[in-house]
Amino acid sequence: MARRKLIAGNWKMNGHLDHLRELHGIEKAAKTHPQVDVAICPPATLIAPAVARVPGLAIGAQDCHAADKGAHTGCLSAPMLKEVGAHHVIVGHSERRADQGETDSDVKAKAEAAHRHGLTAIVCVGETEEERDAGQAEAVVTGQVSASLPSDATADWLVVAYEPVWAIGTGRVPTLDDVATMHAAIRATLSDIIGDEAPGVRILYGGSMNGDNAAELLAVDNVDGGLVGGASLSADKFVPIIEAGAALA
Ligand code: PEP
Repeated sequence: MARRKLIAGNWKMNGHLDHLRELHGIEKAAKTHPQVDVAICPPATLIAPAVARVPGLAIGAQDCHAADKGAHTGCLSAPMLKEVGAHHVIVGHSERRADQGETDSDVKAKAEAAHRHGLTAIVCVGETEEERDAGQAEAVVTGQVSASLPSDATADWLVVAYEPVWAIGTGRVPTLDDVATMHAAIRATLSDIIGDEAPGVRILYGGSMNGDNAAELLAVDNVDGGLVGGASLSADKFVPIIEAGAALA
């Protein structure tokens, strides 16, 4: 099945208002290559100003609370993010699983909240280096997929991002064979959970993707785009990844 590639940037806790200037070049590339989807997830403080500045670019969030409102100091709900113009929300990033102790069931509840409010949920999964060295990578990742995804998820609002924890921000990437094997395993697990919807769900690769390795990573079977951290912070680094995706479409 043909799936549109999605190239999504995750700025993490980086960027102030002046950094939004980078979005112009990214928006221009997105318009030049309409055959791929492009999104940027800046810090929450920049979502509304980003939407105002580049209305032609999909802007997303990096997390949401599972509840719509309530006594949760410092948190943001899916309807709040939707109200200020977010299209997507990343849930279950490994940094949040590690730093905030988020569990698979937390991630599932956040994905459900995203869907309730019309946001696309980008659900992240990935093994640690210790788990890979112990030969458990596939079991860990497919276990996360099974436990983190709502069973009524559909391809129009769910995206999965496979991000090996040891590849994030390290400059290390898995072999293309390892990426293919893991993405195929995720696809098979999706079939078990959501049946007929599984072939339409995009599975992104994330972890040290850059302009030099994007073309080969994005060409791997079942790699339907990228979730990009460091290289999404500047248009100069991110646009070549968009171009690599567009060349494969
Ligand atoms: C990420 O954390 O989502 C990520 C992929 O980061 P980087 O591209 O910097 O490895």
